Amino acid sequence: MTAHVIDGKAFAATVRAKVAAHVTRLREENGIVPGLAVVLVGEDPASQVYVRSKGKMTVEVGMASFEHKLPVDTTEADLLAIVRRLNADPKIHGILVQLPLPPHLDSDLVINTIDPAKDVDGFHISNVGLLGTGQKAMVPCTPLGSLMMLRDYHGSLSGMNAVVIGRSNIVGKPMAQLLLGDSCTVTIAHSRTRDLSAVVQQADIVVAAVGRPEMVVGDWIKPGATVIDVGINRIERDGKTVLVGDCHYDSCAAVAGAITPVPGGVGPMTIACLLANTLTACCRTNGLVEPEGLTA
Ligand code: NAD
Repeated sequence: MTAHVIDGKAFAATVRAKVAAHVTRLREENGIVPGLAVVLVGEDPASQVYVRSKGKMTVEVGMASFEHKLPVDTTEADLLAIVRRLNADPKIHGILVQLPLPPHLDSDLVINTIDPAKDVDGFHISNVGLLGTGQKAMVPCTPLGSLMMLRDYHGSLSGMNAVVIGRSNIVGKPMAQLLLGDSCTVTIAHSRTRDLSAVVQQADIVVAAVGRPEMVVGDWIKPGATVIDVGINRIERDGKTVLVGDCHYDSCAAVAGAITPVPGGVGPMTIACLLANTLTACCRTNGLVEPEGLTA
């Protein structure tokens, strides 16, 4: 069997087009322009690239982009003051503080200072609680994008066995909550899981969010299963730096029914969902109807 390739790049483009169409309507009918503020502390090169591409895509869908680039030695008090100012600014509907923060800053405190209604990353403790209790939350972008691809491919996920590998607050745990919300039977595997390959072999859906290059191999995959590869790992191969996922693509694709590639799978969906979340936040704040199919 050769797996169907779930094209995250193309799907993300359709999500962004949907967002852009709704943004145009908001501007024309309500005079509202959704605004996203991104705060970057320090000069981490990967974070700079992410922030640049987030800003570019925000503008491309017709939203307003506000970038706050702060020096690496920014104090916690100054950062919190900026977050509070953005909370109070009616032009801003979404706030994203780029992680990781430098070690002298308390990430939990900073994230929990963001107004939950503007928390487009979905990391605020209130949104975590709302998601966990099946209420309307801002949902973390990477799991939301993964869920959208699964729903698009399968329709209903009800009754499927899903194994999420990784238990981070950013990906693994919210992904498991979302799959549970769609009535999957969910297992969360992690670094202490015994006999991981046997656990993965039970899965109709495998979501790999580990950060270990090509760890999941085809022998672990149940024939016909759907593999969502969240991992983004830079490795040296044949003298070049290449991006690979947490799944060994060729061997998994030979067994799976469907698979997301790296790059071009989950990655593009993450930014598309950030834009979708900003639009959702804007609609909720203004008491307007939310676009369909862009939330969990
Ligand atoms: P993390 O380091 O916070 O969590 C990794 C998880 O993997 C941990 O819960 C750990 O228990 C588990 N783990 C580690 N070794 C394991 C092993 N041998 N067997 C089973 N589980 C093991 O990482 P994260 O932030 O959740 O990110 C995971 C991966 O996803 C990374 O490659 C990251 O770059 C990528 N990522 C991609 C996107 C995207 O947009 N595509 C977004 C976020 C993260």
